[in-house]
Amino acid sequence: MIDNNNFLSLLEKLDKYAASVFKQFKVEESKDMVLLIAPSEEYKNWALDYIKSKLLGFGKRIEVKAKVELPKRPSAQNLLERYTFDNFVVGKANALVYKVCLEVAEKPGVSFNPLFIYGPVGLGKTHLLHAIGNKSTSLGYKVLYVSINDFSDEMVKYIKKGNVEDFRKKYSQVDVLLLDDVQFLSGKERTQVELFRIFEHMHARDKQMVLASDRHPKDLKDVSDRLISRFEGGLLIEVGLDDETKLSIIKQKLILYGLPVDNKVIQYIHENTGYNVREIEGFIKSVKVKGLEEKPKEVRRATIESVVNFTARHFKLKPEDLRRETKERKIVNAKQISMYMCKVVLGISYSEIARYFGKKDHTTALYAVKKVEEKIREDRKFALMMSFLERSLREYLNKKS
Ligand code: ADP
Ligand code: MG
Repeated sequence: MIDNNNFLSLLEKLDKYAASVFKQFKVEESKDMVLLIAPSEEYKNWALDYIKSKLLGFGKRIEVKAKVELPKRPSAQNLLERYTFDNFVVGKANALVYKVCLEVAEKPGVSFNPLFIYGPVGLGKTHLLHAIGNKSTSLGYKVLYVSINDFSDEMVKYIKKGNVEDFRKKYSQVDVLLLDDVQFLSGKERTQVELFRIFEHMHARDKQMVLASDRHPKDLKDVSDRLISRFEGGLLIEVGLDDETKLSIIKQKLILYGLPVDNKVIQYIHENTGYNVREIEGFIKSVKVKGLEEKPKEVRRATIESVVNFTARHFKLKPEDLRRETKERKIVNAKQISMYMCKVVLGISYSEIARYFGKKDHTTALYAVKKVEEKIREDRKFALMMSFLERSLREYLNKKS
């Protein structure tokens, strides 16, 4: 006996991964039919395949349609149409930022102005800026998206031509100004002066500004205090990613790349990638080409061992030191560096690296790799040492094999 609203609850029992994908659909269910409205064409094709292979005996007619997008008005500048609210996956860690962005897009200049979005790379800041732009544009607002570097280059051109007034006008006359990669304001004094002017002008007239940066305004280097205090004068909000949201994103991307949404594949991708959606997308593309690469376990163990031996020797430690539980700075550093090398040079999964070092959870290895990456970005001397170490390790491994 099938009651009226059981498509999702039945799927929940049958296949919870598919159920979580179908939750992104609008479901209209009657006594003898289910109508599924997919968020995009890709989702529609995925659903049709899924129904054909898994839901033939469902007992009701299932129809699938793709949602029709509203035509865009042509007044937007530099907007990428592929980044929308519809295809942004929402979970615990980004629900708030999503909600705020949607509100700003629907009612620009009203509640959070400026809106300052910050957080590590690959977590959807640029995506959200374009989503705001696309939404506001479709509602008839005049929108402009620009990254700070382009803004700066354009300013220089206008100054050279002697008509900086036109530049100011162009940027002051929009309803929504979306400024990306604000961290690149560092040390660009003239750009900061011009941006401040535009800022004051727009703010006085309740025009919306949305900024995205890889760090909090307080951590911006060589940016004038008055500009920073303006950035902090509205709403500051951080983008983040948790495991559950990450898993939903992996599912969505598998569909978009036409791969099976299969538990084993999802786990494999989860364990081999960090909290960075760009990295996840890149990894899924490589899975699409190469499949799930599994080297025999013994071979991998032997190579991890070589990396550990090599790193230990470089830091004048014993290999077994690196597998020891300790807070000793020198050993912790060497351990993190060898985990990083296992990932970057050998491409071994986070979970397996963690296991080798006696940890149950892959996040230990993930954390180590992120730490090393951070230090490479921030410390030039360390970066040089690492590139030397990486080169010597590759030579060492080549000689061994
Ligand atoms: P950032 O600007 O924070 O570095 P991007 O906005 O460029 O990150 O995101 C990197 C890639 O990841 C883009 O292709 C984007 O569409 C995708 N992405 C990031 N977050 C999400 C999400 N929550 N749902 C779907 N795709 C996402
Ligand atoms: Mg970005």
